[in-house]
Amino acid sequence: TAIPQLPLNDGRSIPQLGIGVWQIDDATTPGVVSTAVELGVRLIDGAFIYGNEASMGEGLRQAPAPRADLFVTSKVWNADQGHDAARAAIDGSLKRIGLDYLDLVLIHWPCPAQDRYVDTWRALIEARDAGKVRSIGVSNFNPDHLDRLIDETGVTPAVNQVEINPRFQNAEIRAANVARGIVSQAWTPLGNGKSFDAPAIRDAASRTGKSPAQVILRWHIQLGHSVIPRSTKRDHLASNIDVLDFELTEAEMAAIAKLDAGDRCGPDPREFEVV
Ligand code: NAD
Repeated sequence: TAIPQLPLNDGRSIPQLGIGVWQIDDATTPGVVSTAVELGVRLIDGAFIYGNEASMGEGLRQAPAPRADLFVTSKVWNADQGHDAARAAIDGSLKRIGLDYLDLVLIHWPCPAQDRYVDTWRALIEARDAGKVRSIGVSNFNPDHLDRLIDETGVTPAVNQVEINPRFQNAEIRAANVARGIVSQAWTPLGNGKSFDAPAIRDAASRTGKSPAQVILRWHIQLGHSVIPRSTKRDHLASNIDVLDFELTEAEMAAIAKLDAGDRCGPDPREFEVV
C-alpha cells in the first residue's frame, strides 16, 4: 500500500509516514536512509543539531529514488534564531546535505525567552520565496507562539512537529494545529516504548497480529498525523511502514486515548532554551 500524502496549507503535501535520523551516527546514517528509501520511505526528518546532515545527504544520494520523489526536512537550531543567523543556517544545511532545495524547514524550538522566533520565521518565509525551501513550519510551538507568527507575518506554518505518543497525547496542541490548518507531525511517536506493554496496546496487537509499535503508529495514522519513527534496524524500518493494511476499532482508539498521562519524553517548549 502506498504511503498516503497529507495536504499542506501551502498547496503542497507531505508523506504521512517517514523516518527520523536523530541520534544516528555518521557511519550508520547513510545505510539507514538508503535502506528506508529502498523499503518505500520518502520522508526523511533531519536537523542541524543531529550532527549528521552530511551523512544524511550521502544516504539520499545512494538511495534508489529520484530527488523529486524524496521529502527532506531540516530544522534551524536554537543558536541560529534571528533573521540573519537563520538565513545562514538554512544555507549551511543545504550545503551540508548537498541539496539545492529542502522540502521542509522547521524552527526547531520557539525559545520564548530568546524571543526571536518571529524574526527567524521571516527568514524562513524569504527562503521559501527564494526557492531554497518548498514548505516552512515549526516544531514545539504552543498556540500562543503560532498566533504570534500568524499575526505578525500573515504566514501560517504548514507543519508543527511536536511530541505525541500514547502517554503524552498533546491533545490541546493537536486541536490548535487543526484549527489553524497546520499538519501535526509526531516526534518520539513510539514514546520510548513506555506503553508497549499497556493492555490497550497489547490487546490491539494480538487481535490484529501486529506489533505494539505498529499499533501505536497506526493510532497516529488514524488521528491524521504525519509520523517519523526512528530505527537503525532493517526489520523495524520495514514494519514501521507496514501499518496501512489494518484498522484499529473505535473501541481500541478510545482505549489508547485513555493511556494519556501527561508524561513527556522530551522537554517542555515553554522552558527549553538550550543553545
Ligand atoms: P521514536 O519514538 O521514533 O523511538 C525510537 C526508539 O524506538 C529507538 O530506540 C528504536 O530502536 C525503537 N524502535 C523503532 N522502531 C521500533 C519497533 N518497530 N519496535 C520496537 N522498537 C522500535 O523516537 P525518537 O527518535 O525520539 O523520535 C523520532 C524522530 O523524531 C527523531 O529521529 C527525530 O527525527 C524527531 N524528533 C524531533 C524532535 C523535535 O524537537 N522536533 C525531538 C525528538 C525527536
